[in-house]
Amino acid sequence: MGKAQKLVQWSPTDIKAKMLEKYPPKVARKRSKQILINEAMENTTPEITANVRTIPGIITMRGCTYAGCKGVIMGPTSDIVNLVHGPIGCSFYAWLTRRNQSSYTGENNENFITYCMSTDMQDSDIIFGGEKKLAAAIQEAYDLFHPKGIAVFATCPVGLIGDDIHAVAKKMKEKFGDCNVFAFSCEGYKGVSQSAGHHIANNQVFTHLVGKSTTEKTDKYKINLLGEYNIGGDGFEIDRILKKCGITNIATFSGNSTYDQFASANQADLSCVMCHRSINYVADMLETKYGIPWIKVNFIGAEATAKSLRKIATYFGDQDLIDKVEAVIAEEMPAVDAAVKDVLPRTTGKTAMIFVGGSRAHHYQELFKEMGMKTISAGYEFAHRDDYEGRQIIPDLKVDADSRNIEEIEVEPDPVLFKPRKTEAEIEALEKAGFAFKDYEGIIPDMEKDTLIVDDLNQYEAEKLVELMKPDLFCAGIKEKFSIQKLGIPMKQLHSYDSGGPYAGFVGAINFYNEIDRLVNSRVWSYMKAPWQENPELSATYVWE
Ligand code: SF4
Repeated sequence: MGKAQKLVQWSPTDIKAKMLEKYPPKVARKRSKQILINEAMENTTPEITANVRTIPGIITMRGCTYAGCKGVIMGPTSDIVNLVHGPIGCSFYAWLTRRNQSSYTGENNENFITYCMSTDMQDSDIIFGGEKKLAAAIQEAYDLFHPKGIAVFATCPVGLIGDDIHAVAKKMKEKFGDCNVFAFSCEGYKGVSQSAGHHIANNQVFTHLVGKSTTEKTDKYKINLLGEYNIGGDGFEIDRILKKCGITNIATFSGNSTYDQFASANQADLSCVMCHRSINYVADMLETKYGIPWIKVNFIGAEATAKSLRKIATYFGDQDLIDKVEAVIAEEMPAVDAAVKDVLPRTTGKTAMIFVGGSRAHHYQELFKEMGMKTISAGYEFAHRDDYEGRQIIPDLKVDADSRNIEEIEVEPDPVLFKPRKTEAEIEALEKAGFAFKDYEGIIPDMEKDTLIVDDLNQYEAEKLVELMKPDLFCAGIKEKFSIQKLGIPMKQLHSYDSGGPYAGFVGAINFYNEIDRLVNSRVWSYMKAPWQENPELSATYVWE
């Protein structure tokens, strides 16, 4: 492609048509509903199709259900041993590929994040069953580490042969007495994407861990942070800011988390949701069972961080906290302002595309806006319609066969631990003053008119978008990284951050400005030429000729 031309030659309608033109008619019809030209107007949000199966033959960016359960939700927890029941291939990608960080040292310096334990199933286990092998592996994990918890994950072959992982886990839990062993039916095929795995993981954490701690938390302003995974140290930066404000983070689900933090989550007075997709149902369950209200926050972007801190302070309504939050923002912002002032002349007007996750593709647009950059196309890998259009459409969502695969937990107020954190009158007063509980407006209303929003983008469409729209930066995951770079466009991983981060909070924003400035202004990309661009016709000879 050579040096990217800045002129976007096509209208959004043309681009959409060109993305679809190579597909067979039936595939084009289906994909057409997942590619949206944003026409969000006041009071209307266009409808998009999301959370549906990827069409066979298409190289999706998605991960499997097991990847979402083990890799995303349970992976970052330090003192629970994760044991994968399946062939070793599934475990390869369970081994720290998300760059979750941990500060936990524990009583005996235990931190199991770096371990990758698998039953390494062989052909004979598939034929004769793997339950005995699983029991032996749980025993081995227990003997080696004596952990508080062992989590067992099912992969596709385990579901297909019908191993009862829950029965094995229950038997081993009873045998040990001092170790909580629990299992996840998160076979890769269970849902249409990793989103199903998040749900399965969170349901089990809620069932087996939350509310089990007997240690009382007496701090004044106690919150849970939900949907923050401490990639590249994001959680460390958020915790630093919260601590500076005098706010105690009881439990992060699940970055830098521990068994005891999950067990104490019922003692927080407010749940703050970062990634809406991966965890909004846990926020709902915490409210129903324990009386903890929830709000949507975003610590990606300096302005968004300040806004979220103010929202938390407003909820508690204590003038000391409100003043403290303002003092912290005033102290942190000068460095942010200086950094953004430095990069703005070089980054203003540059364009970005973001295709990650459930909420990241939305959150990172804040940082690009602060740098004067425009997000011209974005979409989620595994989101549902409410992540695009906002939570008001939830009552209209149809429950399909794939969603029915995921267990919905029936939750009722806990007879002992339920305690309303605010009276109805207090909640009403806050809402009257413009405070929004349980609210998420989605990505569509936040993106500019005529931008392209694409659900479950695939390899072919990614290359087509780059060819037609020529962005200055493309953000996605490791699977897309090198193919995009070969097109001569800088690529930033926003799942694992390459080797960078943190990008959350105030310090994170400064890191991001500087890194993106270097990426979009580096001349190295303009020298990129793939061999077929110089010699479009490749020829070869047999070695014996
Ligand atoms: S799709 Fe199935 S086989 Fe593949 S990694 Fe996921 S669990 Fe393993």
